[in-house]
Amino acid sequence: MLAGASAASADVNLYTTREAGLIQPLIEGFEKSSGVKVNTVFLKDGLAERVKAEGEKSPADLLMTVDFVALIDLVEKGLTQKVASPALEAAVPAQLRDPEGHWFALSLRARVLYAAKDLDLKSFKYEELADPKWKGKVCIRAGQHPYNVALIADYIVHHGPEKAEAWLTGLKSNLARKAAGGDRDVAKDILGAVCEIGVANSYYVGAMRSGKGGPDQEKWAQAIKVVLPTFENGGTQVNVSGAGVAKHAPNKAEAVKFLEYLASDEAQAIYAKANYEYPVKAGAAVDPLIAEFGTLSPDKTPLTEIAKRRKEASQLVEKVGFDQ
Ligand code: FE
Repeated sequence: MLAGASAASADVNLYTTREAGLIQPLIEGFEKSSGVKVNTVFLKDGLAERVKAEGEKSPADLLMTVDFVALIDLVEKGLTQKVASPALEAAVPAQLRDPEGHWFALSLRARVLYAAKDLDLKSFKYEELADPKWKGKVCIRAGQHPYNVALIADYIVHHGPEKAEAWLTGLKSNLARKAAGGDRDVAKDILGAVCEIGVANSYYVGAMRSGKGGPDQEKWAQAIKVVLPTFENGGTQVNVSGAGVAKHAPNKAEAVKFLEYLASDEAQAIYAKANYEYPVKAGAAVDPLIAEFGTLSPDKTPLTEIAKRRKEASQLVEKVGFDQ
């Protein structure tokens, strides 16, 4: 209990798969501003299984995780409950939360273009990845990786399955190497002149440029510039971290209060600093290393719609032999 906090105030129990170092400043900020104490259970994985096993007696109030697929999975397993909060609805764009309030995005990561530093590229459309002018010049990780499955699913939402197949086939024939490795390898291979452009997540650039990934990664990141691509008829594809109130939350009021804090200006600024993520709230400050990319305009496709096309996207990857 913090000094000054009312002795009668309840605690709130947070279950999260996020790293402790990332979440600690947010917990401290909430405890300080609310007087509510946060008890945290850090899980590497198996969050849904744990809450499910605990059943009605689960002490969990707030469930926080990364990736919209994991958030939707919690809803489908019946582990969350509806939350109606004008503050959350104002802070979190509609496409980045559950329509019934079962979860809310709290931070964003964008699927961006890494390009060789000297390339004359100021804007880019995802559709252009299939342009034959990039033949033998594109690097990307496996098509079956969840990051790419989500991108392809979003492409299907925008253009339909036939055009998506043609696009993926075109992209496949533009690859400089097998679709494999990690996102940071795109920067590494641009430095090594294996490829000229590639697709990877935004926050890795912050991690590499800050030196947190070591001197080699700093060099990889120096070899690239980042362009925020958009769909021809949309914005930049994003994934999220987010949270929802647990179905059997013993302290629902405090959990909602915590969620509202996480979407506040103060907490959104902490998010931006901790992991080179984008705040979910429009206009919130972004880390300078990320701000350099320009202003992010997240695609308007509801994440719940992208989730529905994931299976189709994965089948498409298989069909065109993308990872072969
Ligand atoms: Fe990642």
